[in-house]
Amino acid sequence: MPTEYSAQAQPVADVNLSCSCGAVQGTLTVSRRASVPRYVCYCTDCQAFVRHLRANELVFDQASGSEVIHLEPAALKISKGLEHLRCLDLCGRGTLRWYTVCCSTPIGSTLSSGGFPFVSLLTSFCCESSEPTPFGEVRGRVGIRNATALLPGEKVKTVTAFRMLFGVAWIMVRARLFGRHKPFVFFPEGGSRPIASPGRLTKHQRATAYGLSGRCCNGT
Ligand SMILES: [Zn+2]
Ligand SMILES: [Zn+2]
Repeated sequence: MPTEYSAQAQPVADVNLSCSCGAVQGTLTVSRRASVPRYVCYCTDCQAFVRHLRANELVFDQASGSEVIHLEPAALKISKGLEHLRCLDLCGRGTLRWYTVCCSTPIGSTLSSGGFPFVSLLTSFCCESSEPTPFGEVRGRVGIRNATALLPGEKVKTVTAFRMLFGVAWIMVRARLFGRHKPFVFFPEGGSRPIASPGRLTKHQRATAYGLSGRCCNGT
């Protein structure tokens, strides 16, 4: 078992979470011993989501990448503004992308059912994302062929979506094993009913968010 997935990690620090206007606030409990998996994704769906919310400046790196951390549901608590949570199902492919309706701040994504105990949280939703980061090193960059600019550095560490999904699967197993699959902010009743009904983009919104190709990652 990789050390970064150590199950004995003790919670040692809370990271404050907030939307841009402050109506939605929460905390993320992180552990010093557990290195939180951190990735930067350049896939067309991540880019479209951020563009649709006009949150480019808040989220994107210089090449339209979104930095995320992968978590068990129990790590994430929203203490204020639950009523402002909304989600989008961009492509009907089983991923819900969460944001706040008060100020259109992107939060992150989950799978379409609370039966899959996993959260991908945008680090831009964390108030304390500056160095020293409470999160681990960036494990890799995903979907780099969609990057909109050259990335700095001679060697850019890339990771395949498959490798990343392997890590996601392990988080879900671990969450179940150690009872950290709940509470699940986005699926408070458990099961497949999210706290807000998934919205869809109109044809026009989709064209604007995805650009000329208008295609989701799954090619639809
Ligand atoms: Zn807000
Ligand atoms: Zn992505």
